[in-house]
Amino acid sequence: MTARFRIGIDLGGTKIEAAAVDPLGAVRIRRRIATPTGNYRATIEAIAALVAAIEQQIGETASVGIGMPGTISPITGLVKNANSTWLIDRPLQRDLESVLGRPARLANDANCFALSEATDGAAAGMETVFGVILGTGVGGGVAIGGRTLVGANAIAGEWGHNPLPWPRPDEIPGPPCYCGRSGCVETFLSGPALAADHRRDGGRHLSAREIADFAARGDSECGATLERYINRLARGLALVINLIDPDAIVLGGGLSGISALYERVPLLWGRYVFSDNVVTRLLPPVHGDSSGVRGAAWLWRADELE
Ligand SMILES: [Zn+2]
Repeated sequence: MTARFRIGIDLGGTKIEAAAVDPLGAVRIRRRIATPTGNYRATIEAIAALVAAIEQQIGETASVGIGMPGTISPITGLVKNANSTWLIDRPLQRDLESVLGRPARLANDANCFALSEATDGAAAGMETVFGVILGTGVGGGVAIGGRTLVGANAIAGEWGHNPLPWPRPDEIPGPPCYCGRSGCVETFLSGPALAADHRRDGGRHLSAREIADFAARGDSECGATLERYINRLARGLALVINLIDPDAIVLGGGLSGISALYERVPLLWGRYVFSDNVVTRLLPPVHGDSSGVRGAAWLWRADELE
């Protein structure tokens, strides 16, 4: 049996990206379209059209893996926890498989990110990897031994909707979260959360990126905001280390470009980790935005394609 191509799809709220990954792990073809937001049927058809177009180019039938917001409920087979709300309670896997005429694997987008970086990215070859998306939202996923950890409820690694640990008095109850609770990790560590924290402290209207840039250039107000963020990230990740003790934590999403995080956070998390030494590494992503499609492609292992 010859090695086959894998197609990875990153189904996002605003765009759908697709890539053909060759048997050696190189991305050979890339396509990107706007997500038919709000239209479930059109979303299915758009994914099928991307797969058909790529397969025509590579001249073979590939495996299909899809990274998605939310997850497939193991009980109902329906989508849950997706911020792309038109997918919720839909039989996405069944409908895709029926249109594609083959089995498809679907996984949470943060799980795909973790799998990509654990397979041939920043944490290549490491046994236990926690992947974090710090962007407009906060997501988390776990890869163990080159596979994603799904979990009994398909929510393994859902870190963003836990309370920020070791809160300070002014962090309680914390900002309201769309999930219905207050003080979730996401309400402190997403990009919009960083910007909102800066405003709450009397700062100007700046984006997360601008705050980080000004802080790097010595602006004291932005520096103080970034330091609060770093401290909260250290506490949040210390809890993860206490739970799954990963070899590496890889950051993704827009805020993963803030270089100060990799230097400062590991200096602070030791205070909260239940261990004399912390050897867990905090790493920037290798594949960046490509990790969505790459991780989706890696949902099929080589021995499963034969
Ligand atoms: Zn929440």
